[in-house]
Amino acid sequence: MLLLLVALSALPSLNDEDADDDETPDPAESEAVLESPPDGTLLYSADVDDAELEQRFVGDLETLGSISVGLAEAGRLINGVQMKPSDHVEVVDRDNAWGTAETIEYLTIVADEVGNAVPRAPPLRVNHIGKREGGYLRPHFSHQSGRDVDLGFYYVPGTDVRALKGSRIGAMDLEANWALVKALAEKADVQVVLLDKKVQAALYDYGREQGEDEAVLEKLFKGPNALFRHARRHKDHFHVRFFAPRSQELGRRVQPLLAKRPDENKLVHRVRPGETLGALAIRYGSSVKLIQKASGLASTLLSVGRTLIVPLRGPCTQCPVTPPVVVPPRVIVAGQP
Ligand SMILES: [Zn+2]
Repeated sequence: MLLLLVALSALPSLNDEDADDDETPDPAESEAVLESPPDGTLLYSADVDDAELEQRFVGDLETLGSISVGLAEAGRLINGVQMKPSDHVEVVDRDNAWGTAETIEYLTIVADEVGNAVPRAPPLRVNHIGKREGGYLRPHFSHQSGRDVDLGFYYVPGTDVRALKGSRIGAMDLEANWALVKALAEKADVQVVLLDKKVQAALYDYGREQGEDEAVLEKLFKGPNALFRHARRHKDHFHVRFFAPRSQELGRRVQPLLAKRPDENKLVHRVRPGETLGALAIRYGSSVKLIQKASGLASTLLSVGRTLIVPLRGPCTQCPVTPPVVVPPRVIVAGQP
């Protein structure tokens, strides 16, 4: 297996007033390591050969379904799917609840699992997924390619969520949250869950009390490749990054085709200190106006660390190529539901 490292420059932090999305740009959210099968292997979109892909990309884009372009922290989304509320799902911000088809399907599955296992649990609070076309979504570092989701904790019935201050652990419905952990591990393909280590410890202890297998708990919380990873400012929500194998693979495969569709011929650029819109426009053969429009910028002021969508006029020679996706086996949690 080839390991590809994505280097990241140091990033400044932003102030964020929104407690429910309490999240500053945090390089812990980057896709640090991606595993790749041998070059050219098409695992998840083999039903569409290259000729058909080109024809449908140019003339019938909608029929390809969702396409996740680039990385979680520097990417965008084509043909996004919107999360809808249900008996088991509350969508907190519908305008920013767009993801890949896989993301929406996994969320539906895990929310139904918890709802069925713990009937007293309220609907799962789905906070930000991403914008309809992906890209930068304040205040997040990632959430750009339709695969990241912020999920609220389940609290004991009667909890006034808005009144909670500081640690949320005492108010958490551990049974319901544990059911969510299990569903994420068993019923979905999850790349990583970012969660504060103290909350992880509470879930770990709960799992142990329930007689869950020690080796499984290790895989979830302790090992070097544990599903759950600590990230600062993730004390009040699960940040879940799903694999979206087909959408990601299509995103990789359409990269050389982007120039054939001017409306989709865009690059994602992360702003570094000292950069200006004018200089970036020249560098990429774009224009200040086009970058502003595509990136939703009202002025020419750039904030370091955020990403821009840069419309291109010709083939992209500087676009990063993501490796093919290999989804690891799921963790099967033992014990009682
Ligand atoms: Zn998040």
